[in-house]
Amino acid sequence: MSLIGHYVNGQILNSQSGRHGPVFNPALGVEISQVGFANQAEIELAVANAKKASVDWKNQSLAKRQAIIFKFRELLEAKKGELAELITMEHGKVLSDALGEITRGQEVVEFACGMPHLLKGEFSENASTSVDVYSIKQPLGVVGIISPFNFPAMVPMWFFPVAIAAGNAVILKPSEKDPSAAIWMARLWTEAGLPNGVFNVLQGDKEAVDGLLNHPDVSAISFVGSTPIARYIYETAAKNGKRVQALGGAKNHMLVLPDADLELVADSAINAGFGSAGERCMAISVIVAVEPIADQMIQKITERIAKIRVGDGRRSCDMGPLVTRQHRDKVASYIDIAIQDGADVLVDGRGVNPDGDANGFWLGPTLIDKVPLTSKVYTEEIFGPVLSIVRVKSFDEGLNLINSSEFGNGTAIFTSDGGAARRFQNEVEVGMIGINVPIPVPVAYQSFGGWKHSLFGDSRAHGEEGFRFFTQTKVVTSRWPDPSHGGINLGFPQN
Ligand code: NAD
Repeated sequence: MSLIGHYVNGQILNSQSGRHGPVFNPALGVEISQVGFANQAEIELAVANAKKASVDWKNQSLAKRQAIIFKFRELLEAKKGELAELITMEHGKVLSDALGEITRGQEVVEFACGMPHLLKGEFSENASTSVDVYSIKQPLGVVGIISPFNFPAMVPMWFFPVAIAAGNAVILKPSEKDPSAAIWMARLWTEAGLPNGVFNVLQGDKEAVDGLLNHPDVSAISFVGSTPIARYIYETAAKNGKRVQALGGAKNHMLVLPDADLELVADSAINAGFGSAGERCMAISVIVAVEPIADQMIQKITERIAKIRVGDGRRSCDMGPLVTRQHRDKVASYIDIAIQDGADVLVDGRGVNPDGDANGFWLGPTLIDKVPLTSKVYTEEIFGPVLSIVRVKSFDEGLNLINSSEFGNGTAIFTSDGGAARRFQNEVEVGMIGINVPIPVPVAYQSFGGWKHSLFGDSRAHGEEGFRFFTQTKVVTSRWPDPSHGGINLGFPQN
């Protein structure tokens, strides 16, 4: 069985650690390869190479750096079908969805092509007599990116195009569940002409993560994953004096007002609840229906669920399997919890008949009504195709419910009342809001990030905040020889 390695200094580095983990094809339910887990020596090698490469890369002209980013974009556009197949093979999401995530990542590459514009500093002439003050934006050096399994291409691309275009060297630690996309992208960088060592991949588990968190030559950490790990990353990286942004989990609510277009609501609930089998941090997992529309809405949603084709992502199905058997079983266990807690399971995904191998990690779309607010089905992030419905009597009751969640990643309101939508956008305590849009993922030149336990740190991904995260500002105050300098003066200048 093949052992997926690291990518260091422009080439594959086979792991010598003797530690490794299985990689599955979730649609077949079989192990297809192993991934090597980095040990301390491999971490040291990757960081040392990245550090060395970062010095030359920082001093490359902006024009040369920009040309390489452009080339990466062109190659990605031409070859993204290959990358999508790899993602479908290891993650399970359907091919069209894999292509979608690459396209969203590519938008960040396109944003990074314009980096010289953001890198322009500011200049104040004659701030004091014959004194000029100006600022320059410099890279941080070596930065670490630690990513989750659910977007093996897009989430790394939220960060690395911006980091690289700003002049940093990157070490990406992808999820051990679907490690091949990172290697594919590393090879593409080499093909695009990126100097060796500027983009590196370290495979592994907690040991690789801790190696980056504790390494004095790693200046910043960008993390995306579950909330408990995000908190740990934030605390540890901060304790070690690093800049850190750590994006965590989510429980996204969709508030449906009685005046909403219920056809649009049903289509949106299906797309946002079951796309990528619910394994999206911006998936809708709770519909908050303001009565009296719940029964009518449920009928439209269940009609649509009956048409969803679950199966192998290479066979033009709508929804693929879950990523591992363990995750599939954990998600399915919430259906039992719902029954125990007295909710109404309207559609039970455990009975699905997939268009795929019987051993695949299948769970069909599941719809649960009247979920008690005390049930774990409501309070915990499930991260699978399980959509809950909570019925409320008023807009205010729905808004309070959303605001009492520990998470604040995304939310959506469906209504035809502009005033209600406007109040919602003003009062809801969530970072990304959709108005008649179920998955409001911001475009690349805006920034992505939630509130509360969905983001630790004060910088969101990409856009200007992402750019600021990967640069540090120097301010220079200069005076050129001037015979009228005024002699000795121990006070601050009085201009
Ligand atoms: P995860 O937290 O299990 O893993 C994320 C990364 O952390 C992986 O690279 C993993 O190897 C590493 N890791 C795992 N355990 C660790 C530990 N004990 N110490 C150090 N590192 C560790 O998350 P996942 O299951 O891969 O991804 C799903 C989660 O990610 C969900 O909670 C989802 O909401 C979240 N997510 C959030 C966003 C967002 O933008 N907020 C985006 C995508 C996914």
